[in-house]
Amino acid sequence: MKILIDKIAQNHNATAEELEQILSDSSCDEYLFSIADQVRHDSVGDAIHIRGLIEFSNYCKNNCCYCGIRKGNGNLPRYHLSVDEIIALAEKAKNYGYQTVVLQSGEDLSFDMNKMEKIIKGIKALDLALTLSIGEKTFEEYKAYFDFGADRYLIRIETTDKDLYHELDPGMSWENRHRCLCDLKKIGYETGSGCMVGLPKQTLRSIANDILYFKSLPVDMCGIGPFIPHPDTPLKDAKGKKFILSLKTMALTRLLLPKINIPATTAMETLYENGRVKALQSGANVVMLNVSDSDDRQLYNLYPNKAGSTGNTITLKNDFLEKVRQIGRTISTTKGSARDN
Ligand code: SAH
Repeated sequence: MKILIDKIAQNHNATAEELEQILSDSSCDEYLFSIADQVRHDSVGDAIHIRGLIEFSNYCKNNCCYCGIRKGNGNLPRYHLSVDEIIALAEKAKNYGYQTVVLQSGEDLSFDMNKMEKIIKGIKALDLALTLSIGEKTFEEYKAYFDFGADRYLIRIETTDKDLYHELDPGMSWENRHRCLCDLKKIGYETGSGCMVGLPKQTLRSIANDILYFKSLPVDMCGIGPFIPHPDTPLKDAKGKKFILSLKTMALTRLLLPKINIPATTAMETLYENGRVKALQSGANVVMLNVSDSDDRQLYNLYPNKAGSTGNTITLKNDFLEKVRQIGRTISTTKGSARDN
């Protein structure tokens, strides 16, 4: 197994069978994590990029069975921020020294082109890199956001098992989500995708295929996190919570795509104390720290007990900086584009 891991780390290539073999064998997990950490060190260096995360709306027109902000969740009070509030949070991120902000939301149709133009131009005027994570749009919409100044876009494919995707995302189409990723790349965005690990009926082979999918695009950024069941969704009784399997998926993604940006995801921190640090030592080089107000953070409830939902944003930042210091890593002083890696 170690020889196979070494080979993949050297060639940055693997077959689905090989990836599945590593995912199914727990004997070399720590070895895999240490090799992914080494590849991360050699390919993108020791600096960690902090992104300021602004979760600006929990309204969503979709009904994804795993997601706490799905339209059908009647137990969730809904909120969305105004254009000025969003820009003020970006300014706060800037004052914290963050050089990228990530705007994330459900698919909230009230954010029309006019509002998006004001938000994107307002944030770009602050000399920040801007990542959008607002779901499926048309080519023309993506192009317009790009022309307003958005630099990067995140949209997880969630799973490459099309049947599973169609079961878990009713009314949506896998082909359209894939089309979104192709359009974003064509337009020139730094493009991020990712998946959830531990979904019901998800096989190890399908996770191996997810990794190969990221390689085939290829993505510039890739967020991988454990699925965590939410009590107000149809998947409330599912098992999920596969921390180690998520970490292995992330580590293997680093071996195949050495130069991309990989976040230590919030879902990892939620499942395991210091999960984010473990991820940063297993291939990740990015973290997203929330800058929204605590009341809103609690309502952006994708899954229960989401890490970083409570407490003050300066404390979140200082606690994280202390952990970075403890593991001997540094904080990046650049905007952290994957294209500079
Ligand atoms: N509307 C945007 C943002 C979605 S929320 C979009 O469509 O891209 C961001 C991510 O949270 C999702 O892509 C999904 O992978 C993840 N997520 C949602 N519910 C989750 C859950 N119960 N457990 C873990 N991750 C979840």
